[in-house]
Amino acid sequence: DSTLHIVGGGMAGSEAAWQAAQSGVRVVIHEMRPNIKTFAHQTDKLGEMVCSNSFRSDDHEQNAVGLLHWEMLQAGSLVMQTGYAHRLPAGGALAVDREAFSDAITAALASHPNVSISKEEITSLPDSGQWIFATGPLTSDALGAAIQAETGADRLAFFDAIAPIVHADSIDMSKAWLQSRYDKGETEEEQKAYINCPMDRAQYDIFIDALLTADKTEFHEGETAGYFDGCLPIEVMAERGRETLRHGPMKPVGLTNPHAPDVKPHAVVQLRRDNALGTLYNIVGFQTKMKYGAQKSVFTMIPGLEKASFARLGGIHRNTFLNSPTLLDAQMRLRSRPHIRFAGQITGVEGYVESAAMGLLAGRMAAADILGRRLPEVPQDSAHGALIHHITGGAEAKTFQPMNVNFGLFRPVDGLKGGRRGRRDRYKAYTDRAKAAWQTWLAAQASAPHAAQ
Ligand code: FAD
Repeated sequence: DSTLHIVGGGMAGSEAAWQAAQSGVRVVIHEMRPNIKTFAHQTDKLGEMVCSNSFRSDDHEQNAVGLLHWEMLQAGSLVMQTGYAHRLPAGGALAVDREAFSDAITAALASHPNVSISKEEITSLPDSGQWIFATGPLTSDALGAAIQAETGADRLAFFDAIAPIVHADSIDMSKAWLQSRYDKGETEEEQKAYINCPMDRAQYDIFIDALLTADKTEFHEGETAGYFDGCLPIEVMAERGRETLRHGPMKPVGLTNPHAPDVKPHAVVQLRRDNALGTLYNIVGFQTKMKYGAQKSVFTMIPGLEKASFARLGGIHRNTFLNSPTLLDAQMRLRSRPHIRFAGQITGVEGYVESAAMGLLAGRMAAADILGRRLPEVPQDSAHGALIHHITGGAEAKTFQPMNVNFGLFRPVDGLKGGRRGRRDRYKAYTDRAKAAWQTWLAAQASAPHAAQ
């Protein structure tokens, strides 16, 4: 059977369907709305934007999500072309008219000669055929249960619990230091796997007050079931008692501050390496429902993080996502059932643009399989490549949480100044390198030979 089945007609499913259909493959989109609803979707259209109407920064020289826009446009992305066609004035951001956007996505797919749309819920993982599951953060309960039966309970999460992630080069190492608690680990690298930020009593007290009074976001109705399983927001821990954090994630034991070896810290904030490159660190145990502005002002009170630049801020959301580093291969195929791919937010990316971008890759990969073509490897230096490489291999599997595209996922460019000063040059070097790599990849597909059948 040469039909590609795509489950979910959201950001990722719509883009995957378009990419595959444009390369000549017949596609069936299976979308459960309006028969089955989610708490966030309001319509029965494809490509519905469930919350904000922004695709974020459109700056393709200095911003990683803007670079993703650029790459998607080069690849003929339906989501991105439609976004630009229905753009609203919004400074440097790409904001869109959401109604016109999803109307146009729906019309483009419904009228495509290679696409048909079936309004139904899929509740199991099929045994044969070529499939892409792009069912998103609000995957239906029945399908969630079926996926979990395949992956095991610890490999499919129903909530994210995201601690803020900091760019390593923005941490002040004249105050912080590298050390694992009790120097645990076999190698010197493991013994230095954490970055520690010390607090004295006065700093701790001020920090707790700031946590207690910070602005927080509420859960959506129907969103909370099961969230207390093991990952309390840091501000909820602080509400349980002023000492709770000092006995929890901020306990000062097993650590010696080399900048002041005789002073025992009252509390210690630890950051753990978040990617193989060592460019990103997450603040251990600091998942939070604080608003983004509040997070920045509270977390930059931590000694060593005064000038921290955040690759992403924390959050806790209803979010169905796979432990992709262990479950998916480099082509987003389920290792245990390679005729099934996943795409979009369920693979552990975060955001409309990132989800659509993973749909773009999955659609091309599945189409190539069906057409018997060899797809060259997605270049790691492109924004698409940095993201897919992170979720399928570069991220720490044990602590895997959803990720936005950001320059911390890119391999460093040699010979450039570090720190804040060199940042503009560095970002420009990343985006130049990415664009060249992406264009080479697209050109290779245009001239790709058919694999021997
Ligand atoms: P979706 O766009 O959700 O598409 C998945 C589709 O699959 C849906 O149409 C759903 O109905 C369908 N489906 C689910 N299960 C089945 C099934 N079993 N059978 C058939 N169809 C099924 N990102 C941002 O960039 N900005 C935001 O402001 C933003 N706000 C968000 C707010 C909420 C409440 C949530 C949950 C997420 C938000 N996100 C936001 C994150 C994310 O980027 C979006 O959810 C994005 O739409 C994800 O794209 P997707 O294609 O993976 O999933």
